[in-house]
Amino acid sequence: MSEQDSTASVVIIGGGLEGAATAWALGQRGITDVVVCERDTVGGGMTGKSSGIVRCHYGVSSLAAMAAVGLEVFEKAEEIFGTDIGFRQTGYVVGVGEANLENLRKSLAAQREVGVQTEEIDVAEVARMWPTADLEPFAAFGWEERGGYGDAYQTAQAFAAAARATGIRIRQGTTVTELIVDGDRVTGVRLRDGSTISADTVVVATGVWSKPFLAPHGI
Ligand SMILES: Cc1cc2nc3c(=O)[nH]c(=O)nc-3n(C[C@H](O)[C@H](O)[C@H](O)COP(=O)(O)OP(=O)(O)OC[C@H]3O[C@@H](n4cnc5c(N)ncnc54)[C@H](O)[C@@H]3O)c2cc1C
Repeated sequence: MSEQDSTASVVIIGGGLEGAATAWALGQRGITDVVVCERDTVGGGMTGKSSGIVRCHYGVSSLAAMAAVGLEVFEKAEEIFGTDIGFRQTGYVVGVGEANLENLRKSLAAQREVGVQTEEIDVAEVARMWPTADLEPFAAFGWEERGGYGDAYQTAQAFAAAARATGIRIRQGTTVTELIVDGDRVTGVRLRDGSTISADTVVVATGVWSKPFLAPHGI
């Protein structure tokens, strides 16, 4: 490990979509003394397995709001990254039966409140877009014109490349085994080879593998 890598302002653990996007966002804000530690390869975790649906339709308002901000990055990807990240803006539709009609309406209203462009459409409208679909079980649909599908792996690679271009270091094949804490503050991370990186801030972006880091600290 180089001398330069033994300390950083920010260490990000995990180089999936979340870790790579966080690195990129820091780089955009001029915070480039950042090391991403990815035990395998960028996008090799859940990111590489994603079906790639891009939508803001979430029942939790904070998630819907974050997705609405994220959608702008997908839409401006060519401009931001200078490359195709695989996003196709086909629109997104979600259907419900009679029993869930009220819930759908409440959810769409809550999403609009946090800035999501979504509306209710009827069976005839969906039949026009998708003539071969069996729409018999459905009472109504939510429709997001700006949704679609993407390629999560390609997107993570684009975030990582753009982060690297700002000077951020992305270390693949680098497993973090432990958070180092001093009192109630995290001060760095320990790597599998026993070496450490001290940091002012540590971002845990290990997705479904986060529990082993956080459980010993009561989180
Ligand atoms: C089958 C499937 C389908 C999905 N479909 C969709 C979809 O259609 N639309 C959608 O929006 N989302 C979908 N998702 C969810 C989406 O894939 C995830 O929300 C997203 O990829 C999570 O990104 P992440 O960076 O949090 O996690 P990950 O991509 O899992 O990244 C975590 C990274 O941390 C690394 N890591 C773990 N432990 C350590 C350690 N100790 N040291 C260093 N590195 C470590 C891992 O190797 C991994 O690369 C789907 C997920 C799956 C599994």
